[in-house]
Amino acid sequence: MVDKRKKRVAEFIEPFRVKPGSKVTLAKDFDPAFKGGVKKKKEGIALLAEGVRLLSEYQARLAAQDTWGVLVVLQAMDTAGKDGTIRHVMSGVNPQGVQVHSFKVPSAEELDHDFLWRYAQRLPERGEIGIFNRSHYEEVLVVRVHPENLDRQKLPKAAKKGDVWRRRYREINNWERYLSDNGFRIVKLFLNVSKEEQRARLLRRIDLPDHNWKFSSADVAERERWDDYQRAFSEVLSNTSTEWAPWYVIPADRKWFGRIGAGAVRVHTLMEINPRYPAVSKRQRQALLEVKEALEAQAPKGAARDPFEQEQPDAKAREAAGRDDHRAPPPADATNPGDEPAAEPRR
Ligand code: AMP
Ligand code: MG
Repeated sequence: MVDKRKKRVAEFIEPFRVKPGSKVTLAKDFDPAFKGGVKKKKEGIALLAEGVRLLSEYQARLAAQDTWGVLVVLQAMDTAGKDGTIRHVMSGVNPQGVQVHSFKVPSAEELDHDFLWRYAQRLPERGEIGIFNRSHYEEVLVVRVHPENLDRQKLPKAAKKGDVWRRRYREINNWERYLSDNGFRIVKLFLNVSKEEQRARLLRRIDLPDHNWKFSSADVAERERWDDYQRAFSEVLSNTSTEWAPWYVIPADRKWFGRIGAGAVRVHTLMEINPRYPAVSKRQRQALLEVKEALEAQAPKGAARDPFEQEQPDAKAREAAGRDDHRAPPPADATNPGDEPAAEPRR
């Protein structure tokens, strides 16, 4: 049942995956209006709800296992739906297990460090999902399209020699490999909106007074550089989609589809990790049962010895039936019950 669902999700996201080593030309290779077999928005909304439910379930297990972390990287042109995607992820999960960071123009302190420094400061902990709203990829996107940003980075002459961008791709790939080798899975999502859909969305921000605050003339200035950005994104996708951290190009001309697509990739990653609730050893279980007995003995006169057991007489049976595959097999001894190996990332 779980395997079938995982297979379905894997098939759904396959067209979005950038094959490592392939050369991408965005406009030619990825259609922003693709609907991937989902015919109607109504059908999409049901899928969306299912995605939120799965995400919430897996996130709880990820946090309980406290072994793997997940970093979600969101990149896009303005208006593509980064904020909506984040709102959607947050709607179903425990806020204690998720952190969102938005990256803006770097501060003086940040410019005084190497280019990956500020991103490394914001990585998720084990058991957490971290979301980067813009990310280290800005260092090969906006910084490339507007090279005055690179001038501000105070690099020594020697570090500016040769092809800075190729070198940064390599450094980013190596950094992501290091993270993934150490238990942090990276989900990279490019929300792919078309130039015409962006025009419509910018106009909407002007036409609806409640949305005026979202309008930024900077977005219109960036739109002027559309082709440069498309080229820069195509290069990024061609050079930094790796076996350990592949890119997914999510069709974003329909907001609802963008959210399903992005949600499916995240769920798929969590399914691969397959985090489990830690199981206790026989000895620990025995200790729990002794405490249980002591607590039951404290029942006041007329009260149930164990109110929970009384309310849910079949709880134990249900738990055993429904949650077994979510739980690590009990360890042989009590050394470190939570540390069960999970699925290896795809290599
Ligand atoms: P927003 O996400 O709309 O709040 O805008 C944030 C702004 O910060 C965008 O214009 C980005 O291009 C800019 N930005 C983000 N990262 C960098 C960076 N590393 N260097 C220069 N500008 C950046
Ligand atoms: Mg903006």
